[in-house]
Amino acid sequence: MLSDPFGRHIEYLRLSVTDRCDFRCFYCLPRSHRDFETPSDWLTPDEIERLVSQFAVLGVKHVRLTGGEPLVRKELNDIARRISGVPGIEELSLSTNASRLSQFAESLSAAGVRRLNISLDSLDEKKFQEITGSQLKPVLEGIETAKTCGLSPIKLNMVVMRGINDDEVESMVAYCIEHELTLRFIETMPVGKGGQSASEHYMPLSEIETRLKKRYSLKPAAMRGSGPARYFQIDESNLVVGFITPQSQHFCDTCNRVRMSVTGDLHLCLGQEDSLALRPMMRAGASDQEIREAIKSAIARKPERHHFDEAPTAIIRPMSALGG
Ligand code: SAM
Ligand code: SF4
Repeated sequence: MLSDPFGRHIEYLRLSVTDRCDFRCFYCLPRSHRDFETPSDWLTPDEIERLVSQFAVLGVKHVRLTGGEPLVRKELNDIARRISGVPGIEELSLSTNASRLSQFAESLSAAGVRRLNISLDSLDEKKFQEITGSQLKPVLEGIETAKTCGLSPIKLNMVVMRGINDDEVESMVAYCIEHELTLRFIETMPVGKGGQSASEHYMPLSEIETRLKKRYSLKPAAMRGSGPARYFQIDESNLVVGFITPQSQHFCDTCNRVRMSVTGDLHLCLGQEDSLALRPMMRAGASDQEIREAIKSAIARKPERHHFDEAPTAIIRPMSALGG
């Protein structure tokens, strides 16, 4: 089992399969961003399978495919199929903006993807376009297709921003009740230029919780999952809402994850810069044993917590590099 010096067990790998995206959510990937990784530096499906196998030997059980937008990577189905075939990997999930999900939901389900997180910050076409630079309709169609393909559970992630979409919280609740989806609210994080520019719209989720409690009765709910959200069931509905509060109430003491970039850099914390470059090791002929030893020594350096409060401009990589 992989453990860090703070007694946290690492069982969850978030794997970025691309740093590119067909959206430009302003809080994540600003339009001015040009510094994308070159394809020859991307981990190949073979390399991904090999690395995931080594993580699995070390006790990792859950892999999430993320990005950028994972569905823009042409080899995504192949990558998903290989990972779900790795002994020890019990769960393969996907984070997506859903714009291409209508086309790919069925094949991804056949490749072993189960749980789905979908970004959706607005149900208003104009506002959606302002936030993401893209169209709402294919996203809503993608969500419907994913449901019919049996991908489950589906959780919608809404980054709540004051003055931008905080007026849509109740309509998002109604949408998720109607479509039988889980809804999670997320606070903005000051990661990269986009995240830092969104800080002026930062809103502590305690405000949303208070607002919802005036309208609904919220009962604490248990939700199977690997993440940091606090969940509540909204009375008289099946809707479960989650609150993810990286800024106002950080959850670093229960962090069970590490992240890998498309180029094979193993990042120990989303809010810190320390990483281990695994691709050069692999391409220089390192053995599986050597790779596992390197992973273990990197985990031994996993920081105790992020410092978004104390150093809000420290992280210059965009969120799209590691996938949240
Ligand atoms: N493209 C996929 C998507 O949008 O779901 C996967 C990658 S995206 C970076 C993963 C998650 O990070 C999304 O839910 C997105 O809303 C969130 N995110 C991106 N930038 C953020 C920021 N600055 N603060 C908080 N959440 C952010
Ligand atoms: Fe792309 Fe997801 Fe970032 Fe939006 S949040 S720009 S969809 S990677």
